[in-house]
Amino acid sequence: MNRKIDVEALCHEKGLRITEQRRVIAQVLSDSTDHPDVEELHRRSAAIDPGISIATVYRTVRLFEEAGILDRHDFGDGRARYEAAPESHHDHLIDVETGNVIEFVDPELEQLQKQIAEKLGFRLVDHRMELYGVALDRKS
Ligand SMILES: [Zn+2]
Repeated sequence: MNRKIDVEALCHEKGLRITEQRRVIAQVLSDSTDHPDVEELHRRSAAIDPGISIATVYRTVRLFEEAGILDRHDFGDGRARYEAAPESHHDHLIDVETGNVIEFVDPELEQLQKQIAEKLGFRLVDHRMELYGVALDRKS
């Protein structure tokens, strides 16, 4: 989201060993304001350190994800996309024509989801909400 997350600091917190290549990938993730897939992360990382292979990026994002540092998303096109796990929750709206992803938070929606879970006999601990839409003002 808009607030920058220090991925490298999170790695230290979680006790992950930081190699030079992991540091670059962590930096790229911290600097990303979108939801890049592995190929895009590799492009950005290799621009800083050409020695970084796509296999290293795959391994590193999996490691970060397992440590809870990254959130993995699938926005309907079958590609895994990543973002640094945000401190505060947000949901996503995906423009199905352009693939653009818009982040939003709606307190009423959050409350409604809690109420639905309670009605079903649960305390809500997490949720994922993805809206898929076509822009109303786009000429076709
Ligand atoms: Zn997001």
